[in-house]
Amino acid sequence: MSPIIAIEEHYITHEIKSLIDNYSSMPAQTHSRLNDHFDLRIKEMDEAGIDIQVLSHNHPGAQIFSPETAADFAMKLNDELATIVSKHPKRFAAFASLPMQAPEIAASELERCVTKKGMCGAMLHGMLKGEFFDLPKYWPVFAKAEELDVPIYLHPGVPDKRVSDAYYKDYTDEFKVFGTAGWGFGIEMSTAAVRMVLSGIFEKHQNLKIILGHLGEGLPFLIDRTHEGITTRQSPNKRQVSFRNTFCKHFYITTSGNFSDSALLCSLMEMGSDKILFAVDWPYNNNKDATSWIKRTKLSPDDYQKITHSNAQKLLNLNF
Ligand code: MN
Repeated sequence: MSPIIAIEEHYITHEIKSLIDNYSSMPAQTHSRLNDHFDLRIKEMDEAGIDIQVLSHNHPGAQIFSPETAADFAMKLNDELATIVSKHPKRFAAFASLPMQAPEIAASELERCVTKKGMCGAMLHGMLKGEFFDLPKYWPVFAKAEELDVPIYLHPGVPDKRVSDAYYKDYTDEFKVFGTAGWGFGIEMSTAAVRMVLSGIFEKHQNLKIILGHLGEGLPFLIDRTHEGITTRQSPNKRQVSFRNTFCKHFYITTSGNFSDSALLCSLMEMGSDKILFAVDWPYNNNKDATSWIKRTKLSPDDYQKITHSNAQKLLNLNF
């Protein structure tokens, strides 16, 4: 038996939907799948041969609440998620959704979700009110993740308005996802990852583990150039950062929404098969497209096992 574990698979809360369900422009079939916690979800998992989904709330999850209500609503959101998992404990695991607008509360919520609810880490989305999460005020969350030995998944969110206006808006009427899944998401999240390396957080938290989706948001292709620029042209007598070493040590990447042989080969060459995990990005991508692709690749049996399940079992401490 060779299970397939998919680790970037989304849903929408029913419990506090009115607070969060602002997806009116979303295609109906995507919306109905996000809202489906069991029936269609499990049917489409079975049809594609996916054994386990690691569930995460759709963007922006608990990041949408005000700092005053964040603790309460995040708890409700995560309790509901734990209940979903408990109905099918052999098919689901979960990433917590954290109220990052109140970092200390987010750190305690992460601890509660991991130690009391059996979750395997947390997912953060994009930026928060124009700020990236590498800023020191957010470090308590990463410190807690390191202490609990769980990863933080950096997932795209809607790009900052200043960026969208300057970079994307001239073409988004015609090409709706240019600023998001078609290009903007990757640019923002690869920037978020490079900033984390520059921030020095990995010098302080040497066992911190970060996950990026979409085969590393373009970074595997750019590691060499980024390393060259950042590592060899630093100011003398300042803190030295090895981009390549830091990125390849602390980051894991998933195949979500990027089922490309050439991108996978590049990722394998730069990061190695211990750092790549299978994901679909359901329901934005189709389960069967993802599983038929991964089965068709010319991965060695060893690498196939690692990417489809054993890396996830180890990183997320899953006991399936
Ligand atoms: Mn996603």
